[in-house]
Amino acid sequence: MIEAQGLTKFYGSLPAIRDVTFRVDQGEVVGFLGPNGAGKSTAIRILTCYMPPTAGIAKVDGIDCFASSLQVRSRIGYLPENNPLYNDLTVSRFLRFAAGVKGLSGKNTTREMDRVVAVCGLEKVRHRIIGHLSKGYKQRVGLAQALVNNPPVLILDEPTIGLDPTQIIEIRKLIQSLREQHTILLSSHILPEVAQICQRVLIINKGQIVATDTPGNLTSQLQKSAQISLKVEGEINQLAAVLESHEGVQKVTVSREDAGRLLVETDRSRDLRPEIARKVIERGLSLLELKLVDLSLEDIFLQLVTEEPVQEETQS
Ligand code: ADP
Repeated sequence: MIEAQGLTKFYGSLPAIRDVTFRVDQGEVVGFLGPNGAGKSTAIRILTCYMPPTAGIAKVDGIDCFASSLQVRSRIGYLPENNPLYNDLTVSRFLRFAAGVKGLSGKNTTREMDRVVAVCGLEKVRHRIIGHLSKGYKQRVGLAQALVNNPPVLILDEPTIGLDPTQIIEIRKLIQSLREQHTILLSSHILPEVAQICQRVLIINKGQIVATDTPGNLTSQLQKSAQISLKVEGEINQLAAVLESHEGVQKVTVSREDAGRLLVETDRSRDLRPEIARKVIERGLSLLELKLVDLSLEDIFLQLVTEEPVQEETQS
């Protein structure tokens, strides 16, 4: 449904994206994840026909974004990062305007306005001036304009940026409710957001795609070792030395912030939890907690985009 083939864009002599290739199939919800400046908005602006690439091809529904931009635009609902709205208009007037831009008139306009107002939960604020609304409601209005005329593809650029935690939850729920009806490409620098909403993640860094997979597979593929966290009562440093020499253990870290906490990195192929628990008991220590730690998408992202391994705890 969305295709990027070798997309490259230079701003002057600066390459913002280089040879970006990916596809989003019909019905998929894909996250476009990367730190600020990675090139997400640049790729999105090309896909939404706002500017041509320096090289490469962008297509939506098999139609070239550059050669047939009007046809592509009619298939896309786009929520740009800064959500440009006319603050002096009421929600109704603005949505009527959006419907007009999308070529609707008469009864079709009224029907579509009623539909998007209901989908986005805007009934209460329908006749209010946009400038007087909270940021959360403004974002709903932005989504509503993207949904007018029911486009098959939604492209949402950082849809929760600048919102407070409650508003973020509301907007994420709203996007989740749209998953059944639309193919969605959602850009974000917030990792849990993408993991929560998307079936698949494209990770972009410094203008290039560095990984693509489901949030779950990315975790298991990239998790080179398993990490076991345990908390014990008693002399911890000797235990750390004993565990470090145990077969299958790669590294043991004693936490400085959390007394009695040990992080044990082990070979992924073996579950060493029972052996570790036995070692603790054998040394006459009390085992307060023992659990397998999942690498978060955030950890994986750091593994992918940083050359140096990231260590939060200091080995003693
Ligand atoms: P993201 O959306 O991931 O934050 P952008 O696509 O906005 O990334 O930016 C990618 C790179 O291109 C950055 O280095 C940014 O400074 C640069 N850039 C973005 N827009 C412009 C522009 N209009 N002119 C010059 N450089 C730009």
